[in-house]
This record gives sequence, C-alpha cells and structure tokens, in this order.
Amino acid sequence: MKAANRDFTRELNLFNILNSIREAGSISRVEIAEKTGQSKASVTNITALLIERGLIYEDKVESSTSRGRRRIMLMLNPDAAYTVGIKIAAFRLSFAVVDFVGQVKSTLSIPFRVGERSAAMLAAVAEDGILHCLEDARLKLEDLSGCGVAIPGFVDSASGTCYWTPIQNGSSNIRDLLAQRLDMDVYLENDANSFTVASQWFGLGKGIRNFLVVTIEEGIGMGIVVDGKLYQGATGIAAEFGHMVIVPDGEPCRCGKLGCFEAYSADSGILQQARKLLKRRKNGPDQDMLTIEEVTRWAREGDRGLRKIFQQSGEFLARGVAGLIQIFNPERVIITGEGVRAGDLVFDPMHKLLGKYLNRQQANSTQILIQEWNDHDWAQGAAGFVLSEIYKSPLNKIQRSG
Ligand SMILES: [Zn+2]
Repeated sequence: MKAANRDFTRELNLFNILNSIREAGSISRVEIAEKTGQSKASVTNITALLIERGLIYEDKVESSTSRGRRRIMLMLNPDAAYTVGIKIAAFRLSFAVVDFVGQVKSTLSIPFRVGERSAAMLAAVAEDGILHCLEDARLKLEDLSGCGVAIPGFVDSASGTCYWTPIQNGSSNIRDLLAQRLDMDVYLENDANSFTVASQWFGLGKGIRNFLVVTIEEGIGMGIVVDGKLYQGATGIAAEFGHMVIVPDGEPCRCGKLGCFEAYSADSGILQQARKLLKRRKNGPDQDMLTIEEVTRWAREGDRGLRKIFQQSGEFLARGVAGLIQIFNPERVIITGEGVRAGDLVFDPMHKLLGKYLNRQQANSTQILIQEWNDHDWAQGAAGFVLSEIYKSPLNKIQRSG
C-alpha cells in the first residue's frame, strides 16, 4: 500500500473508532471491533494512540453479564478540546464555549446592532466576547481548537461566504477578520445547518441517519440530514422551508413575497397578525411596543382572537411538516427555536391535523419531537459544528497549549 493510502486508511479507522466511542458514550475495545469491522489489533493500536494524546480514557466498570468481572471501557475525555460558537442575530451576539463532548462550559450574550456597525467593529466585539466567555470557563485562547460563526441566510460554508442574510451588513468577511484576530480556524455556517449538525453529533439527532430540524423564531429555518449527511443542495442554500408560499397572495413576508409559510407560523408572522387584530379593537395596546411574549401570554390567558392566530399557525405548521414527512420519510422531526414557547397553543392543532394530512404508515414511521429552546442553543450549535470538523482529523486539529 502506498504511504498516502496507508495514512488515509489509518485516519479513517481512527475517525470510526472515535465516532463509535462518541455514539456509545462508553464502550469496550471488543465492541468497537465488532461495530467498526476493524481487527482487534488495529483497535488496540489506535485506542492506545488516542489515550496517549489525551482524547479518550479508560475506566473499569462492573460487567453486567458476568458478576464480579470488571470490563475496561473507553470514554471520551471532555477536556480533550474546546471550541467556541458565536451566533450573529440582528441585535445580539451570543457566545458559547463547549468541551469535546459538546457540553457548555460558559455562555455570554451582548446586545449589538450589527446593521449599524462596521465588519471590523463586529470582529473586535466578537473577540472581546470570546475572551470574556473563556475567562468564565477558566480557559485561555490557546485552549481553543476552533471557532464557529452561525448566521441566518445563504451561506457557502466551504468558502466561508455569506451570499445573503436578513441581517443588514451581516454578509461581510467576518470569517477572515476573526481568523486573523484569533489566529485559529474559523468556520462560517448557516445557523440552522450548524444547529442541525450539532444535534446530529451531540443532541436529539445522535445515531439517527435521516432526520429534519425545523426552527421557529423570527423566521423559520430548517436543516436536513439524509443518510447521515447534511443535505445542502446544489448551491448550498437548500432548506428554505420558511419561504415556501402556502397562501397565494397572502400575508406579506419579510422576504418581499406574499403568503410565505413564515408569514403565518414564525414569531414575526404571528406578531404581524396580532398587530392587525389589536388595531381593530378599541383601547388596544400600543402597537409599536407589542412583543411576541405578551401576545403569547394574552392568548394563553384566554384572548380568543389571539388564540385563533396561534391555532392557524399550528395548522399551517401541520401542512408544512406533513409535506416534509412525505418527501423525506425521516425517522425524526425535531421542532425547536424560541417559537416553541407557544406550546399547546400551536402544537395541539398541529398534531390534530397531522393525522389528517398523513396516511398511517407515514405518520407511524416518523417521530415528532418538540425540543425546548435555550438562549445559548444557537451558539452551542455553532461550537458543536466546529467539533464535528475536528473529529474528522483530531490529531491535526486539536490545539495543545500545555
Ligand atoms: Zn418569505
């Protein structure tokens, strides 16, 4: 075998071993050999290297099958590497530092008007945020193995280019500016895609070959995993589910079209319709100050008009999700994002209608999970995306400061 081929095979074997430890959480060498199809000698060699490099460690546990016997299990070392993720939103930068198993070590959120600041200023504030977040986690910049930046819109992650984003000024060369400042690998990815990859590696998508993520917040985002891989489309901008027209000549959408799904089921759409409704009422609240949280609370307290808007949002969601299930036949659909705060107001009508829109085989083959949302989930997703890149070539990519 040529040296280059040998290196490649070894790299691939190493990746598969590391991956089976990650998926199992705790696994023996024999089980790894069975799972990966590698020889026991190869597993022994590679795991010895991984232990020596501090990526995994051994632990003795009681065997469940033969009493009194102790088995040696292998586990990932959470402190083997750290990454940081940044989510760029229109008025806010959020940060999360995560360890090698994707767990959050520290988070930070800074109000920042991206549209009114230069790209250089954005990079400077992002660097400050990272340093602050690292200090909270008692880590240094040298401890980081990479940085991920998540932004809504059309992003070609391979070239680090953002073609279009709803965030004004956001499509600047932030990746290069940050890479210069931090002197490390910086990855730019669409926010829903990076969250989807992080879910696949460390979240509800772990070990699942075919699944979809739908994120509801200001807009509606989506991530598609087919056969274990993120589907990105011909030009890397697939999965713009929110801008599928669902009502011809319907409500105006932020994208300039009429009747997009987003204009009914996203936070921005619900708020737009609530404004219209409350305007017609005498002594209604101040329209400019209205927030989605208030509207949700009033609906929950029994405002029938507002409840109707949420119900309709859930019904459209059912239509959209049923369409996705029929196209992709996924094992799982994960619905998440700030918008899940509406809870039963939206998901009761959605579940009710899904039964009507799907035949039984389709409905039974897909599990629909509503995942609660935390403020730092986007940033954690961006950091997890970087980890997924590091796992592919850990011996080269992990920084060693000590
Ligand atoms: Zn639209």
